[in-house]
Amino acid sequence: MRSKNLKAYGQEGTLVQKDSSQLRQKQMIAAHYDRLAEAEKTGEKAVYTFVPGNLTELMLAFDLLPVLPEINALQSGMRGKSRGYISAAEKLGHSEDVCTYVKCDVGMLKSGNVGPTGKHLPDPSLLLLSYTGCFTFMKWFEILKEEYDCPVVMLHVPYQADGKITDSMRNYVVDQLKTKVIPILEEVSGVPYDEDRLKGLLANSAKAEDDLVAVLEMAKNKPSPIDAYFGGVYYIGPIFTAFRGTEDAVEYYKLLRAEVEERVRLGKGPITPEGEMKEEKFRVVVEGPPNWTSFRKFWKMFADEGAVVVASSYTKVGGVYDNGFRHDPERPLESLAEYCLGCYTNLNLPSRVDMLERYMDEYQADGLLINSIKSCNSFSAGQLMILREVEKRTGKPGGFIESDLVDPRYFSAANIKNRLESYFQMIEQKREGKAKALEGTNTEETSGEVQG
Ligand code: SF4
Repeated sequence: MRSKNLKAYGQEGTLVQKDSSQLRQKQMIAAHYDRLAEAEKTGEKAVYTFVPGNLTELMLAFDLLPVLPEINALQSGMRGKSRGYISAAEKLGHSEDVCTYVKCDVGMLKSGNVGPTGKHLPDPSLLLLSYTGCFTFMKWFEILKEEYDCPVVMLHVPYQADGKITDSMRNYVVDQLKTKVIPILEEVSGVPYDEDRLKGLLANSAKAEDDLVAVLEMAKNKPSPIDAYFGGVYYIGPIFTAFRGTEDAVEYYKLLRAEVEERVRLGKGPITPEGEMKEEKFRVVVEGPPNWTSFRKFWKMFADEGAVVVASSYTKVGGVYDNGFRHDPERPLESLAEYCLGCYTNLNLPSRVDMLERYMDEYQADGLLINSIKSCNSFSAGQLMILREVEKRTGKPGGFIESDLVDPRYFSAANIKNRLESYFQMIEQKREGKAKALEGTNTEETSGEVQG
């Protein structure tokens, strides 16, 4: 399948190159927000839930519309609207240290529950919390519970403390799905549970997951046809939000895969905010979520240096599929349980280190770069240990920068650019040192990490 490469105007008004899959993705997400805006008129009911551990197929099996508060926050950040919402929440007493997704969401709620597109969001008929490792999610829904007159249900997902999923963990989650989550979904929607319908949705999920993994793994090529962090966040958009299990998602990932395969065939690099990258100079693995308020500026800092992110942990936050997991229609509730248990936020630090080390090796990366997010404890805890451990195991240099999700006060462009430039120079020096060593010259290598 060949796809068109189109020109469109980006948020900052600049002319940018977009693949047809990217335009399709934007249309899907815009259509979902339109549907949410109409929900109170059409009578469709909304369930608020979070990306890690989301039970999208289950909600769709009851004709319920998923609303993801952290996606609303990040979309507001990308549209330059989060600063005002965060300050509204701080005026209400929410501390500076609180996750800025939460404060942005609270600000949106207090502004009339307006979504990132400026259209109204429906009030929830249910707050569905799949608890997959981030304590903030629990506190967040405690705040929303005060605001909405609707039931709350919590699926407690045991932490993978020993780095594995046991039968008792799986059974514990399945039992809660059967006795707590499904009954309340039936009650809220008025639709009876239909396992065959769920199986059909899960079969679609598995197809989309196959294609997503194929796309992300194409970054093993040299040059990489994609940027698996900045470009990657567009690729994960549909599957990590309201579309997993839908025909739309299956079609989107088929189209995306064909586009990326074509780029590999032509030996092309990724499309960046500056157009197509002509020369790949650095391949890095990135750990941590991106900054959303200066997303394009942040990406451009990498593109200007010829740096491509070949793998990232953030693109696994809504599902770690490249370890082989797929939703399985033959084991519907068991595979939903395994999905929740296997979320990145539910993995212990040794598992995260192993995963990043594997990426460094399989994607032939030059280094590991950590973007430490001020307000995200779930990702930030242990990141320096992760960095040192991956450096030790791979012998490749690590870099450390700091920013925030949607609070523009914590994106210091000059500082980050400086550190990135130093980091890429360090990689260069390491390479030169190695080349000289291979030539038999005694060269003192530069090592260590760049951090603030
Ligand atoms: S602390 Fe991190 S993982 Fe938790 S809600 Fe905030 S951004 Fe998400």
